[in-house]
Amino acid sequence: MTRPVTSLKRASELVAAGLISKSDQPKIEDVAQRYAIAIPQNIAARIDPHNSSDPLAQQFVPSIKELEHQPHEQHDPIGDELKSPLTGIVHRYPDRALLKLVSVCPIYCRFCFRRETIGPTSEQKQNSSPSGVLSEDQLQAALDYLKTHQEIWEVIITGGDPLILSPRHIKNLNQKLATISHIKVVRWHTRVPVILPEHITTQLCQALKCDGKAVYIGLHTNHPEELNSQALAACKRLIDAGHMMVSQTVLLKGVNDDAAILIKLMRKLVENRIKPYYLHHTDLVPGTGHFRVSIEKGQEIVQTMRATLSGLAQPTYVLDIPGAHGKVPIGPTYLSPNSNQKKTGSHTVMDPLGNKHLYNDPCALPAK
Ligand SMILES: *Cc1c(COP(=O)(O)O)cnc(C)c1O
Ligand code: SF4
Repeated sequence: MTRPVTSLKRASELVAAGLISKSDQPKIEDVAQRYAIAIPQNIAARIDPHNSSDPLAQQFVPSIKELEHQPHEQHDPIGDELKSPLTGIVHRYPDRALLKLVSVCPIYCRFCFRRETIGPTSEQKQNSSPSGVLSEDQLQAALDYLKTHQEIWEVIITGGDPLILSPRHIKNLNQKLATISHIKVVRWHTRVPVILPEHITTQLCQALKCDGKAVYIGLHTNHPEELNSQALAACKRLIDAGHMMVSQTVLLKGVNDDAAILIKLMRKLVENRIKPYYLHHTDLVPGTGHFRVSIEKGQEIVQTMRATLSGLAQPTYVLDIPGAHGKVPIGPTYLSPNSNQKKTGSHTVMDPLGNKHLYNDPCALPAK
């Protein structure tokens, strides 16, 4: 890891910065017992303490609502543990495996779907190395797994946030991955270009190169205000170094459950050569009920995006099915079979503005 970043981590520090009230402090201390808190100084300085709907505050400042747990919320909301053959690997789809390199992040999103397993406290519980990085033995075992499973075409490096690692550490890993010939794509999931843009140095961009493989950077970003000039400059350095960038956004009540905000975000991404990839429906993460949006509302927003935005700017709206069943698109549905579809190929199809039309599929299979 490179030079330490000063961050607000304690309830008392958040009170001193004016981000939470003194009266909330004891309850926020309870939140901190359970879920990691960190807000780097540069982000804290961008939060308007007088605006309770500030999108950065909503995402990063802990709330006493996190103490409210609901019965449908799950410790392991997308089933990572069910599909983890060894520490650091999650292998749910045959051709893709996650390599969870670090269990810490420079900032802790209050809705994080891995909040039960990341951060300094849980890492001590899991007895892994104190820096939050896979130990050398664990990494070697994970690489051996990737090497012996020839069906793995893509490695998705995640955590925590793996881009907090130093260029030297990243280069070292890439040299090892480069020797595994069946891996063709290396994808990094990160928030660092937005949260610590100065960490994306020319050296780091070079270190991300992996001989003979395509490198993708999946940027987690939820609101256009996150993308200030420094963040966009960091993305430009990555893209100019030859890496592809895609984005992932989590649909969050009070942050971006509004078509106008998402339209602005998607346009800004495309203008900066970042391809919108996924819009995630909120997972059933403990203590995040205040962020949850209904699927109907999500579909309505997505329909407005379809009606308004360039095709390049459309993310796929997905649900990660609890129990490790995978991610699938969840609409809205534009095409539905009519009752006589089997005989006639008749469908009703909705246009981008929501008007319905009849479409007869000339290639429809005859009824059996
Ligand atoms: C999300 C995820 C992936 C990647 O899925 P894509 O649809 O290819 O982006 C792979 N493995 C696991 C366990 C995941 O949760
Ligand atoms: S950056 Fe990702 S892993 Fe880290 S807290 Fe946010 S959502 Fe979780």
